[in-house]
Amino acid sequence: MICRICGATKSVLYCKRQGQGQGEASYYYCRKCKCIYLGNLPKADDMMNYVNNEYESGSYRRYVEARDMRYEHFNKELKKLVY
Ligand SMILES: [Zn+2]
Repeated sequence: MICRICGATKSVLYCKRQGQGQGEASYYYCRKCKCIYLGNLPKADDMMNYVNNEYESGSYRRYVEARDMRYEHFNKELKKLVY
């Protein structure tokens, strides 16, 4: 494995972790620069799907659910500024 930080070929497997629905993630340790990095990076589409799903169902779920209320409040406040 080529180190993503320094480009050296002195990396060894550091650990494996179960991903969140995306399979297993392998982390490598570079003996030259001492960094630990993820071996196979997820594809951009997979990351976008993960982020969007987390945004809508994870920590921001209640924020997303309140969209209509926030939109209505914003419009009321905007009218106060405009008129
Ligand atoms: Zn390195």
